[in-house]
Amino acid sequence: MRTELRCTECDSEGPKIISLRNPARERYCGRFCLDKGHESFIRWIRRANAEIAS
Ligand SMILES: [Zn+2]
Repeated sequence: MRTELRCTECDSEGPKIISLRNPARERYCGRFCLDKGHESFIRWIRRANAEIAS
C-alpha cells in the first residue's frame, strides 16, 4: 500500500512542494499552485481572526 500524494490545488500526482506555513501541511506541484494555496490560506486566517474579534 503506497501513500498517494496529490497536489492540494490541481490534484496532480507527485507534488514536490510542501507548505510549511499551513498547519495541514498541504502539498503543491509547483509555484502556481503554491501561490493559489497560499491565497486561500491567507483568506482562512483572515476569517479566523474575524471570528475571534467578533
Ligand atoms: Zn498543482
